[in-house]
Amino acid sequence: MRNECNIIQDVLPLYVENIVSDDTAEFVKEHLETCAKCQHKYEQMKEPEATHTSVEVAPLVNLKKKMLVKRVQTITLTTIFVIAVVLSAFAVLSAPVYFPYSEDLLSVTENADESITITFDESVTDYSCSVFFDSDTENPSTEKVHYTIEAWTSLWDEWFSNRGVQSTTIRLEKNVPFTVYYAANNNEENIFIYGKSVTASGGSITLPRLTLGYYLILAIFGFCALLIAWFIFRSKPNIKIWIERFILYPVSYIIGHFIVSGMNSTSYSLERDFMLIIFLSILIYSGMLLARSLYLLRKEINSTNLSASL
Ligand SMILES: [Zn+2]
Repeated sequence: MRNECNIIQDVLPLYVENIVSDDTAEFVKEHLETCAKCQHKYEQMKEPEATHTSVEVAPLVNLKKKMLVKRVQTITLTTIFVIAVVLSAFAVLSAPVYFPYSEDLLSVTENADESITITFDESVTDYSCSVFFDSDTENPSTEKVHYTIEAWTSLWDEWFSNRGVQSTTIRLEKNVPFTVYYAANNNEENIFIYGKSVTASGGSITLPRLTLGYYLILAIFGFCALLIAWFIFRSKPNIKIWIERFILYPVSYIIGHFIVSGMNSTSYSLERDFMLIIFLSILIYSGMLLARSLYLLRKEINSTNLSASL
């Protein structure tokens, strides 16, 4: 029987693939029913996934795994890119456009119940009112309250929202003199629009906050420092790899800054701008890290292919 087993095992690969004549198939089938050893070989051949993880196929399986990782990374990268684009569009569309002061922009009316109502023109889609208490601890009777009004719209609101005429009511402190100023946020003096018992106080300007500029400079400094560190440690792969990862963040921050604020480093709406920059920079950063690992993986796959074909 030993001879027949050899013949059967020679034919088995063809039998598994169904490319033998009917007579041969019949012959193999009959043998398999009576021979446990050949039956076992046959079972092994039928399940290529489970059995072919032999030594010579291992690199191929490895490669498959890496391809899968690569696919997942590509999907993640695309998602990050899409979110970043949407967020950038949001940053541009929602950027506040402040109104310069005009007679028609807003009106103030005094109500009977110690409050004032500010009514805006319908082109105004958003406003803010900040309060500043001007008190002198040594002389409480000179206490004053200043209100600063800002009014703006955005591309998004201009196109898509129709909020109609808006108004806000400010409750006043009893017997405390107050003033209401309008801040056009264009580096001009705030405009006095309403007030009681104003003692001659100098004009004030609502200044754009410069913090974003400082952060930008900080990011540029960080980038330069890491660049120098990279140069120093370029022959030490362990340190170099970490510097290469970190250096992408200041770069991402700088890109985020330019998307949100353009060439400006000043902002009248600091919190909004800063949050958007941080958000965008994190997205850009993860995108860059992923792109980097994809690039490295691709290089590795290419070299594996090369060595496999040799
Ligand atoms: Zn056999």
